[in-house]
Amino acid sequence: MNTFQDLGLNEDLLKAIADLGFETPSEVQDKAIPILLEEDTDLVALAQTGTGKTAAFGFPMLQKIDVDSRTTQGLILSPTRELCLQIANEMKQYGKYCQGLNVVAIYGGSSITDQAREVKRGAQIIVATPGRMKDMISRRLVDISKIQFSVLDEADEMLNMGFKEDITDILSHTPDEKNTWLFSATMPREVASIAKKFMREPQEITVGHKNQSTNNVSHEYYLVNARDRYQALKRLADANPDIFSVIFCRTKRDTQKVAEQLIEDGYSAGALHGDLSQNQRDIVMKQFRTKQIQMLVATDVAARGIDVDNITHVINYQLSDEVETYTHRSGRTGRAGKTGVSMVIVSKSEVRRLKSIERIINQKFELKDIPNGMEICEVQLMSLANKIHNTEINHEIDKYLEDINAMFEDTSKDELIKKFFSVEFTRFFNYYQKAKDLNVKVGDRDSGREHKAGGNAARFFINVGEKDGFDWMKLKDFLKEQLDLGRDDVFKVESKDTFSFFNTEKEHQEKVLAHFTDFKHNGRFVNVEITEDKPNRGGRGRGKRREDRKGGDRGRNDRNYGGPKSGRRRSDSSESRSRRSDSGSGSSRPRRSRR
Ligand code: ADP
Ligand code: MG
Repeated sequence: MNTFQDLGLNEDLLKAIADLGFETPSEVQDKAIPILLEEDTDLVALAQTGTGKTAAFGFPMLQKIDVDSRTTQGLILSPTRELCLQIANEMKQYGKYCQGLNVVAIYGGSSITDQAREVKRGAQIIVATPGRMKDMISRRLVDISKIQFSVLDEADEMLNMGFKEDITDILSHTPDEKNTWLFSATMPREVASIAKKFMREPQEITVGHKNQSTNNVSHEYYLVNARDRYQALKRLADANPDIFSVIFCRTKRDTQKVAEQLIEDGYSAGALHGDLSQNQRDIVMKQFRTKQIQMLVATDVAARGIDVDNITHVINYQLSDEVETYTHRSGRTGRAGKTGVSMVIVSKSEVRRLKSIERIINQKFELKDIPNGMEICEVQLMSLANKIHNTEINHEIDKYLEDINAMFEDTSKDELIKKFFSVEFTRFFNYYQKAKDLNVKVGDRDSGREHKAGGNAARFFINVGEKDGFDWMKLKDFLKEQLDLGRDDVFKVESKDTFSFFNTEKEHQEKVLAHFTDFKHNGRFVNVEITEDKPNRGGRGRGKRREDRKGGDRGRNDRNYGGPKSGRRRSDSSESRSRRSDSGSGSSRPRRSRR
């Protein structure tokens, strides 16, 4: 196996590497660094998250730039502000012995003049988000006409986020002779086309198996009724008292909601999504990194690439439409040789998706039971015992000992222990003693939802479908937001090519019809009608009815639809919601002990 010396890195970098404690190069580093150091070439590198891509392009770039010059020589584009800051920080650490090095991060949401000033002081390397970069170019606040190296980091995600035009625009201001290094976890068609367009005969390296999750992550799933999702989440958290996790939701709104509920229920949680101000996002990330927050509830975009050590669990509160997203999510844990668990909470209707993920990541999901109330009480009790056992005594207490001893003079050790533990245990016990079993058994024909669909549900036809960018999940989100209904009030959503079906409880029927009367979306009338509850029988003569079920994999082009968003009401003021003191109402829920 190669060492970092073998790869041809210089002393300054080797010293920094030693400081960082990196012992051997990771696979992508081993493959990319020699090529990038020795050759003037373009490169496409595919590697999962957490494989050390930053250093794979960072070390060669640092070695090749001229620190004595103040000209900007390297440009790294990355999708989010968080990643941008993370990469800039890594680069500064890698280059800490490179005298005169100046790495500047530029990103939206923070003063452009400050950033321009930093650039002006002479930044050899700029790490930027595409939006702000474009902005600064058009205002002539940066000059990238002499760069020699451009990196597209997390290229797939940048394209997902619609940065293709910005990237094209930015690269048009760079010299043709530069080298472009593209790093991506996956290689969808869009990335391939970018590579083709902007790169000259790029060398390609692939690390590990495409789309395969890291092997030190185990994958579990929990089958519950959709309406029990949140309860299930709480139990998973309670059954893992030392949990340090990222919880993924599909929409900003759900992210915010789940975080708020967790906070209200006494957990140390925080939300991370694009509707929060930059400042709020920074605060939440800082709290998470310093473990003041145990559960970070996040959208995929906001959490992309975030590198926080020692995450024990990734919880897929909802699955995303994209299989690749699952890989990114689960890659947040099991890093740096540690093991991690990726949990998926699913309802029956999602099991099929799970199977298609299994196929693609080539790993099995293990079906697990949501722990019951007594199991959780037991875990909590033992965790407390363990904590007490390991607690260092605070001698400030000594001065009160006499009084305390007097109080317990007649209490035996045995009794004292029981009393002591009861303080904590009783809260959980009271909460959980009547808790129901949340698990849906695999053989069950239906899952609650189906009962409802039978008697008390209304079924609707709507004249938008996959062609309009609405796969069933997006349609469900759209309807929920339009109708201001809860997570599980819209169900049995079935998306066809040009139309779809969905159910709600009968009680919402009038509201649904009223809302979609004369309703326009993206300039087009959207029509909703009551239909009969037999969605699967074809040929009722409702327009062109093609049953082109795509199985578990949704069409790729769905992801960039500009649709529902524009019709969305913005979620109510996101101000000061991410963090709220959890001083407590006397709710029936057990409150978690602070640590
Ligand atoms: P990626 O961009 O592939 O998701 P990162 O570059 O963010 O991965 O690296 C993930 C983590 O691994 C970072 O904390 C980084 O400091 C660390 N790391 C990178 N290379 C090595 C190495 N050779 N040995 C040990 N840790 C490494
Ligand atoms: Mg990275």
